[in-house]
Formats: sequence, C-alpha cells, structure tokens
Amino acid sequence: MQRQGILFVISAPSGAGKTTLCKQIIDFSPKLRQSVSFTTRPMRQGEIDGIDYHFVDVERFREMIAADAFVEWAQVHDNYYGTALQTLRQAGDDGQHVLLDIDFQGAAQLKKCADEAVFIFIAPPSLDELERRLRGRATDSDDVIIRRIENARGELQQARWYDYIVVNDNVDEAAAQLIAIMQAEMCRSRFVFPSIEEMLNP
Ligand code: 5GP
Repeated sequence: MQRQGILFVISAPSGAGKTTLCKQIIDFSPKLRQSVSFTTRPMRQGEIDGIDYHFVDVERFREMIAADAFVEWAQVHDNYYGTALQTLRQAGDDGQHVLLDIDFQGAAQLKKCADEAVFIFIAPPSLDELERRLRGRATDSDDVIIRRIENARGELQQARWYDYIVVNDNVDEAAAQLIAIMQAEMCRSRFVFPSIEEMLNP
C-alpha cells in the first residue's frame, strides 16, 4: 500500500486513555486526520454516524469483508471493527497524515501490508491503575471489567513490536509525548526533502 502521508496507528488496552488522548492531539496539525472506522457495535449516546464510526449491520460488514473493502478488520469485544481501504486512499489523495485508533489485531494486519506506518502503543502506568480507571467509568459490569483486565495482560505483551510506547500516567504529558513523536516523524527527510528540491529547482 503506497501513500504520501503517514499512517499513525495507535492501540491501547481498554481504559488506558486512548480515546481521550486521540481527541486531545487530533488538532495539533491541520495535515492530520482521524480515520473513521466501520463497526457493527450499537451507537452510543452522543455518537454521530459518519463522524465517530460508520455504523453498519453484521450483514453489510460481512459483504465488505467479502469484497476486500477493508485493509484490516477484527472482532473486538463481540463486535466487528474495520478500516476501509477507500478511507485511507481518500486521505492519501488529499496528502493527509492519518491517525488510526485500532486494536492490536488490526495493527498486526497493517504491520504486514503497511510496514512504513508508525505504530504507537499507549500503556497504563500499572494494572491497578487500569482497573481503577475502568471501575471509575461505571459503564461496565464487574464481569466485563475483569475480562478487560485479563485481556489487557495479553494486549500489553503486544506492545513490544510497536515503534513507540507512551505510558499514560498523566494525560497532558502523554499527549505532549504523542505530539513529539508525530512531529519528529513528519520531519523525516523523505517528507520534507521534496520542498528542498522545489527550493533548488523552482
Ligand atoms: P469502542 O467500541 O470503544 O469505540 O472501540 C473498541 C475497540 O475497537 C478500541 O480498542 C478501538 O481501538 C478498536 N477499533 C476501533 N476501530 C477499529 C478498526 O477499524 N479496526 C480495529 N481492528 N479495531 C478498531
């Protein structure tokens, strides 16, 4: 998959604060855009179809899998989630960098076909803190929380193959680290050198 902009792939165990962090950093560059995934999970209060996700039923999602419409897809917490090839193509054509908030299964699929993407893992400072945050949300039952903490152990093992790990102890510090990573990646010579060439050969 060849494209002009950078793909920033961000994964984290549930409760590590990824959604908050992504919201906090998405506006730091006008060239950065968040990919809108397809999902079969029910819409939550306050979510908007086409903005938070493209909400589809299982039948439509399976049709899209059969039509090879996804660059990656996975089943997460009993629902399907996927990134459409079309979404990335469109952003690439506009010269945008794209932020993908996806689980580690999807990230592993992208690692195989888009090795040049930048893989960032957000980790909680400890498992105790993760549990405290999950319980603080008060949206999930005890069973769900226990399952998420068990899952988190396996997910944290995956962090080893990511390019960067940001430990989210303090949201502002973690956001600053994420922005620093992205700014450095955007300064790579392969992205900036074309403007030098233009300078030399106007
Ligand atoms: P939520 O339902 O809370 O919005 O998301 C649940 C999980 O699904 C999160 O870990 C999120 O990163 C992941 N997810 C969201 N979109 C995608 C996607 O397109 N592909 C994959 N593989 N995971 C996704």
